[in-house]
Amino acid sequence: MIQTTFPEFLAAIVTLFLAGVFALWVLSEMVRRNSSKHAARHRVSCGLCGTHFEDTSTAELVECPRCGRLNERVSDWHDLMER
Ligand SMILES: [Zn+2]
Repeated sequence: MIQTTFPEFLAAIVTLFLAGVFALWVLSEMVRRNSSKHAARHRVSCGLCGTHFEDTSTAELVECPRCGRLNERVSDWHDLMER
């Protein structure tokens, strides 16, 4: 059995709690980024008329439902927002 004082025990409990909170925060952030990237894969923005629409196909070129222009799928939604 490990001999410890009450303040050391409390410090260990608080440290474990904070480590758990940090681990949960890191995991939730990873899940959030992954789901955001997955959803962004289906979003397309037309380079001609600026219409934003979703396309769930796997085609490289996606036809705009408004003007009919063929648009390249953007792999990262953040790249699109910076244009
Ligand atoms: Zn268009």
